[in-house]
Amino acid sequence: MIIDGKTESAILRQEIKKEISLIKKQTNRTPGLAVILIGDFAPSQIYVKNKEKNSKEVGIKSDVIRYPKEVNEVEILRKIEELNNDKEVSGILVQLPLPEQISKEKIINAIHPSKDVDGFNPVNVGNLASGYKAIVPCTPLGCLLLIKKVEKNIAGKNAVILGRSNLNGKPMAQLLLKENCTVTIVHSKTINLKEECKKADILIAAVGVANLVKGDWVKKDSIIIDVGINKVGDRLVGDVDFDKVKDKVRAITPVPGGVGPMTIACLLRNTLECFKDR
Ligand code: NAP
Repeated sequence: MIIDGKTESAILRQEIKKEISLIKKQTNRTPGLAVILIGDFAPSQIYVKNKEKNSKEVGIKSDVIRYPKEVNEVEILRKIEELNNDKEVSGILVQLPLPEQISKEKIINAIHPSKDVDGFNPVNVGNLASGYKAIVPCTPLGCLLLIKKVEKNIAGKNAVILGRSNLNGKPMAQLLLKENCTVTIVHSKTINLKEECKKADILIAAVGVANLVKGDWVKKDSIIIDVGINKVGDRLVGDVDFDKVKDKVRAITPVPGGVGPMTIACLLRNTLECFKDR
């Protein structure tokens, strides 16, 4: 089974659109997403454009605030404070990566936890780790929704996560623990990566190394979620060698068209949740 992230994302966005339309009829209010974009890094420009387009399509009022790459940290912190206090803004996102004069840590901490649609603020990270209600980072949330499309109850499964970033690996581990999986995180210092991966009923690859996971790294009938986006020549490939793995496993996400579209849909979902909570 090839897990079709595009279709699943379209279904989720349709549900969000319906709910926003109903809320608008009842309250005459709409969720608002403020995106801060600093500099002219090409991939960030594309991501922000996509976020803006998708927000508008579901009825979220999206506002992109652009700064030149030389902008100073104080100015960005002041803007975040203003957005924190703006009743029309349900969610705030600062597009990463940031230029070096701006501290990612300070920016993430400045966004009010109730408007932190990326789920990076330590309050949300801590709530997720404690098993409390939290805003969950969009990519791991999208991965979990795709896994659930294949199997609803994953309690007791061996889940192996390749990569331990704050963005992907760590929150993914928390989500899978909450689902009662037995979770292993592996990374660049892990000894015998292949043997660890082979134990996985559910394998999530989020490393950023093209085709790292080979055909003999996976367990028969497992579920493979490929988060990686790597450029090889003019092609985009994942962290999993898709052609060598796909016939051995029960389900796998392609790259592109797997996790990527779900990430954006989950951002819209988080924005709607922030709006409803306020
Ligand atoms: P990151 O911050 O660079 O973290 C990469 C992780 O992979 C680290 O924990 C690193 O280990 C580990 N790693 C690197 N090389 C390895 C190797 N050869 N063997 C084992 N582990 C290795 O990356 P990220 O932000 O999590 O992103 C990972 C990938 O996901 C990238 O390709 C990125 O483009 C993609 N991504 C996709 C989406 C989407 O929507 N589909 C969203 C975000 C990111 P150490 O900790 O030991 O260094």
